[in-house]
Amino acid sequence: MMQCAVCGQTGPTVESPKRESAEAQGRAILRSAEGAASWVESHRRREREHFTFRLLVGIPYRLIPGEWQ
Ligand SMILES: [Zn+2]
Repeated sequence: MMQCAVCGQTGPTVESPKRESAEAQGRAILRSAEGAASWVESHRRREREHFTFRLLVGIPYRLIPGEWQ
């Protein structure tokens, strides 16, 4: 999702489809980032002085039960 660095508002979360290869996954993530960035245009129509944004990315992290527990 995209976040306005001025007011903290965020756009909708855009999920990346899971792909088989790392290369295809990278392309899917870039397309998702472009989808998330489309929210900036509508936010800028309401807030004409907000120019700074950040792309918030979540990386799935799964724990595997084992001896470490
Ligand atoms: Zn804003």
